[in-house]
Amino acid sequence: MNRDTSPPAPQLADGFGREVSYLRVSVTDRCNLRCVYCRPVHDFHELNHKDLLSYEEYLRVIRLAAPLGLTKIRLTGGEPLARRGFPDFLARVMDAAPGLDVRLTTNGTLLGPQAKMLASLGLRAVNISLDTLDRESFHRITGMDLYAQARSSIEASLEAGLRVKVNAVAMRGVNDHELPGFIELARTLPLDMRFIEFMPIGGGTTWDESRFWPASEILESARRFADLTPVEPVKGSHGPARMWKIEGGQGRLGVISGLSGHYCLSCNRLRLTCDGKLRPCLYSDKEYRLRPLLRSPRTSDGKLLEVLRRALARKPMGYKLLDERHKRAVCSRAMTAIGG
Ligand code: SAM
Repeated sequence: MNRDTSPPAPQLADGFGREVSYLRVSVTDRCNLRCVYCRPVHDFHELNHKDLLSYEEYLRVIRLAAPLGLTKIRLTGGEPLARRGFPDFLARVMDAAPGLDVRLTTNGTLLGPQAKMLASLGLRAVNISLDTLDRESFHRITGMDLYAQARSSIEASLEAGLRVKVNAVAMRGVNDHELPGFIELARTLPLDMRFIEFMPIGGGTTWDESRFWPASEILESARRFADLTPVEPVKGSHGPARMWKIEGGQGRLGVISGLSGHYCLSCNRLRLTCDGKLRPCLYSDKEYRLRPLLRSPRTSDGKLLEVLRRALARKPMGYKLLDERHKRAVCSRAMTAIGG
């Protein structure tokens, strides 16, 4: 008998053959911070509650997509911990998608007191966004005086047994002088400290060429403060971060170069926005509406899957959109409404 031993074809693949295994789910566009890089400094209109997907609606999509080769789900926002009932939703996601790697991205301000409880629900890893280690600077960047709450969520999460990644948006003239402090954080605590290149997503943020601090420069400067050894990427991992071990330290340092060195060729992501749209590419505003379908009693699972597959078939190569951008924002939707 001629037995086929080749691996099964990916069930969720896009038109370029990229296997899609990572779903980012944004549960709200609301946030208790007003970060200058994430949303328009003026005139950001949050959705009405009725326009947000209900937790039930999210769960239907997750139950459908999970068996098709998803390996990871990230819950994000807005600020996910600011949506009422989030811990219960997290527990239901774990139930709906057993075996999947479910993670959380948060600004940390509400996390500290909940870290143990979230870990007890089965959460294993958390990304905490923290762009500065200075209270006044935190206030300037985020519009809120909540540095102490955000900073203390790091130790609270580690104590709860969560794996911690700290993400700072790299902004020249804003937090570049804090590089030694961030390296010290990763030296003294067992966490991944990652700098994300500031991306021109959505109009009206403070993005501008002069604020851009590229990954290559971050790395060059970091070498003045620490001995860094590159970490080989885990086999099969599609993560966009490049990581370095800090000699004599507990943690690692990394950069995510979404602008200077895109990772589109290996992109395995699909996004579900809080208003129920599938967004196949961070850089493209082309989205596929699921909400009306989810709210119609006539919609079968087959119909939802058809839209999912159509969205994936048309997932673009985002770097081409970046190349065409000519200094303007690459897309119009704000990061807080996309989910990062
Ligand atoms: N509120 C949560 C938080 O602060 O992590 C989740 C939502 S936030 C939109 C998700 C991620 O997007 C954060 O790590 C944030 O730093 C990142 N982000 C937002 N705007 C960005 C930009 N213009 N360039 C790069 N990263 C950005």
